[in-house]
Amino acid sequence: MELIPRDEVALGRATLQERIIKRESSKPGYKGKVRAFCCHCIFDPYQRGTWLQQIEACTSLDCPLYSVRPLPSTYRKGCDG
Ligand code: SF4
Repeated sequence: MELIPRDEVALGRATLQERIIKRESSKPGYKGKVRAFCCHCIFDPYQRGTWLQQIEACTSLDCPLYSVRPLPSTYRKGCDG
């Protein structure tokens, strides 16, 4: 997994979103593409929370991707018990 240097976050938050989208969409299979699309759709680097936390907070229940949107790992642990 490619880590995003902290300097880059500080220098250009828009770049962070672009890097995440590029990284996720380049993964084989559809999951990375879904992750990239959700990041493209909702992630605002200037708002509170990580990109996964912002996607978790998505309220677009009518979106076809809602049920398969990526969630933070802490969410899954909580659901698994
Ligand atoms: S599930 Fe939410 S964040 Fe993902 S594409 Fe749909 S509206 Fe956007």
